[in-house]
Formats: sequence, structure tokens, C-alpha cells
Amino acid sequence: MSQSSEITIKCPECGAEQSFTAWNSLNVGLNPEKKTALKDGSLTRFSCESCGHSSEIGYPMLYHDPERQFMVWLANDGAEPPFAGTALGDVLAGYRLRWVTSRNQLVEKTHIFENQFDDQTMELFKASMAASPKGVPEGELLFAGLGKGAEDAVELQFAVLAEGGTTQFIGTTREAFEDTAELLAPIANSALLEIGQWHRIDAAWANSLLEGHLPGPTA
Ligand SMILES: [Zn+2]
Repeated sequence: MSQSSEITIKCPECGAEQSFTAWNSLNVGLNPEKKTALKDGSLTRFSCESCGHSSEIGYPMLYHDPERQFMVWLANDGAEPPFAGTALGDVLAGYRLRWVTSRNQLVEKTHIFENQFDDQTMELFKASMAASPKGVPEGELLFAGLGKGAEDAVELQFAVLAEGGTTQFIGTTREAFEDTAELLAPIANSALLEIGQWHRIDAAWANSLLEGHLPGPTA
């Protein structure tokens, strides 16, 4: 089920109070139109009717895609997922349960799972991109979907969110991704995720996993 509640937001610019619909639980099987609104940012955007001020409202949201069998818990403040610590194995067998701290990270998970990628491999791949000699621009690297690159080759597109709020897009061919994913598979497979538990699969997860696989310091 989906669940929304009306909350009152006080405009940070002019102080006017206004009602705002918060989607605390969003089942995109039941409300597919809300997925579009989540992705384009309008679902979480507050626009003041008095002065026109606009800003993003961060509130906890449980995102549920029953068709692709995954749930993502979004809490900007890092609050624990619902039922944390309780094994949900029986109820949600086969489900991927993820925990993120920004809408951008939630949207990234939808891109990953909707394109039938594995998010562990994707995070390891991004970590390897960031560490490559060619490097990538400074910022948060997020998978943004598939597209067409040079000579119509299918490529994976990534958004790089810089701290100043600017976004750059970079691409890598699907072929290059598959080659690297094959090399990373033993590392990805070494991290068994407990079924029925919420997991944070992000850059920090990938970096600590890779560290454990690097050769130790030499004397
Ligand atoms: Zn206002």
C-alpha cells in the first residue's frame, strides 16, 4: 500500500504556512505516476504559494517496487529503516532491502534495479572508475540509466553531483562495464548480504570491501 500524510510547512523565505503532501510509503506498483514525480523532484518539492520560494523537503520514505521486488528506505537524517534488526526473510523472501540518505541515491537505486543491474557490482564499478588513472570529476557519482554513446553503442550514464550543485554526465560503454564487472565478480560475491535485512550499499561500502582485497603494505 501507499501512504501519504498532510504536513504543514512554514516557508523559510516569507514564513507563510502551507499544506504539503508527504509520501511516507510509496508503492510504485499502485502509484506509478508518483515514481515520475519522485524522479523529476516534484514529489518532494515545496513551492510557496505566497512568495514563489521553492525548496526540497526531506522526509522519511519507504519506496516499494513489488514488480522488481525491492524496497528502499530513504531517511535524509540517517534514521534507521522500519523494522531494522527484525529479519523480514519470510515476508519478503527474494526482496532487496536498501537504505539510502538522499533522494538522489534512491533514484539511483531505481535506475540500477530497473535496468536489471546488481547494485553491489555497480558500487564496486563506480569505485573503480573513481580510482582509475583517467579519473572522474570530483563529486558524488550516481548511475543515471542507459543511453546511446559514440557510434550508437549502448552506454551506462553517470551523473556527477559536485558540491556546488552542478551536475555533469559521463558515460562508459556497456562493454567496458561488463569487462570490469567480470573482474570484480569475485569481490562482489565475497560480500554475502543477509536476506531479510536492510543494507547500505554505497560508495563507503564499496571502498571498504575493496580495501580488504588490496594487497597489504610491503616492507
Ligand atoms: Zn514563501
